[in-house]
Amino acid sequence: MFDKNKVKSVSNLLTDSKKIILVSHKNPDGDTLGASLAMFHFLKSKGHQVDTIVPNHFPAFYAWMPGIEEMHVFESHAKEVKGLIRDADLIFCLDFNDMSRTGNLAAELLKSEAVKIMIDHHLAPSDEFDYVFSEINTSSTGELVYEFIADMGEINRLGLNESLALYTCIMTDTGSFSFSCNRPRTYEIIADLVRRGVDAAKVHKLVYDTFSENRLRLLGYALSSKMEVWKEWHAAAIHLNKEDLKRFDYQVGDTEGVVNYPLSMADVNLSILLTEKDDLIRISFRSKGSFDVNQFARTHFSGGGHRNAAGGNSSLSMPDTLQKLKEILSGYRESLDYTLSL
Ligand code: MN
Repeated sequence: MFDKNKVKSVSNLLTDSKKIILVSHKNPDGDTLGASLAMFHFLKSKGHQVDTIVPNHFPAFYAWMPGIEEMHVFESHAKEVKGLIRDADLIFCLDFNDMSRTGNLAAELLKSEAVKIMIDHHLAPSDEFDYVFSEINTSSTGELVYEFIADMGEINRLGLNESLALYTCIMTDTGSFSFSCNRPRTYEIIADLVRRGVDAAKVHKLVYDTFSENRLRLLGYALSSKMEVWKEWHAAAIHLNKEDLKRFDYQVGDTEGVVNYPLSMADVNLSILLTEKDDLIRISFRSKGSFDVNQFARTHFSGGGHRNAAGGNSSLSMPDTLQKLKEILSGYRESLDYTLSL
């Protein structure tokens, strides 16, 4: 998959590096966590000293992942994490292509003189990295980590821990094989991970069937009381403010997946979730078919991502952000007016 010489150079760097750190993006999802944990177990099995770093806390439904308890969370252990970055010889950046995706960690990472290696599948990588392993047509960074290890000629090192981590990457980044999942290669990798011992049904339950009562009720409330359906634009938006989140005792991860529900309506091609976090409105975009939310988020909400899944933010109030959205959407009437067919 990757350039042979580039893989070889990184293999050589690995041999010479004493301290390796693996970095995940902010508001970590299954892909960034799984990619990091797979590399963690793989590099440890090769005898390396390796640490995993995550900017802020991960959702509780990933707590079962082997090795996750050893992750260093910058939000709560800043001093320790700064030390790890300062001492690192090699830094792997997994599932993001711009240091700004690590939030407050970015400044520390950019200061470091360690060799920086990016493995990622998002569009338009920045030039902050020494080695770039980027392929946007893959399901997930987990899939790229698998290919990277395969290209190193070490795929038979993958044990159950690595396989569970990589399976989680692919499962979560494809919405359980409902998008970004049209390449046969993805299933060849999945087949290999299952062969290595992954219980696919169990992983699905561990990630998705672990709602608290509050989380499920927040979902119900969001759909029944906080969703606007804009038929003329084939769009729908759910907006949750701080009070809504507080009412249902919001925990990290509780709004994960909420953005996908409006797309289950036949005539809705664009779904938008707005959540008030700190002093910012975080916005998630999902689309089905041709509407490019990466472009949309980049142009209007200083964000980005993939064609059918992207994120951004707004520093306006919730009502003003909704107003801005409606004004912008009226300019997209034609590009949102389509019906999916085979
Ligand atoms: Mn990803």
